[in-house]
Amino acid sequence: MKARKPLVVGNWKMNGDLIANERLFTALRSFIDRELLARVDVAVCPPFPYLGQAAAWMGDAGIAWGAQDVAAHENGAFTGEVSAAMVSDLGCRWAIVGHSERRTLFGEADETVVVKAQRALEHDVGVIVCVGETLEEREQDRAEEVLARQVGALASLAGVAVERFVLAYEPVWAIGTGRTATPEQAQSMHEFIRGRLAAAGFADSARVRLLYGGSVKPANAASLFGMADIDGGLIGGAALVADEFGAICRSA
Ligand code: PGA
Repeated sequence: MKARKPLVVGNWKMNGDLIANERLFTALRSFIDRELLARVDVAVCPPFPYLGQAAAWMGDAGIAWGAQDVAAHENGAFTGEVSAAMVSDLGCRWAIVGHSERRTLFGEADETVVVKAQRALEHDVGVIVCVGETLEEREQDRAEEVLARQVGALASLAGVAVERFVLAYEPVWAIGTGRTATPEQAQSMHEFIRGRLAAAGFADSARVRLLYGGSVKPANAASLFGMADIDGGLIGGAALVADEFGAICRSA
């Protein structure tokens, strides 16, 4: 067993409705039992409007819930935004920040990502900070340079409790594409990331959980999670299928 307790997080993205969610929550409760949860931490991140529903269904099941993002601002005149205080109010243990879809589709820069993470942490919401290179950056042999920049930007968070800080390596070319990094490729990037965390001042970098994300499925989860520096996964598509998500959690 690894020293770091594995964590598997479902990122539902902009999917679901009240009825479909109820079905999914019910199935998750049966697939993910207390015995599994003693070994693996599990969280689901539905869209904001369903966080209350997640709280109602998951509250007594030992499965945590989290937000897919939080605002960089504390509160006030920011139409359409959802604050860290609000997701904290709804019992979120986690907030994903800096997902590549936020970075690329909504123009979030490293500076915004770190402010969002700070906001969440101030409200006692743990953060899952996503990093990862695009296909173009990988092909130009710049993957490590990009990761070094993204991880280096987190230096001001170096003092946070490791229980509240998780990093997810998600190569953009592997997200929703069916193309997964090989376990060896992912491991080497995770090792690199752990080194950069240490360089950024994270004294406890050896204890920080590093998740892999990008087309994780039941068929490839065990080989990915078996690598020394891969401590679980951030799961997109497969998180919407209860038995697949359950199987992935069991592989961790
Ligand atoms: P995917 O998404 O599992 O569908 O590739 C992962 C993610 O974007 O977090």
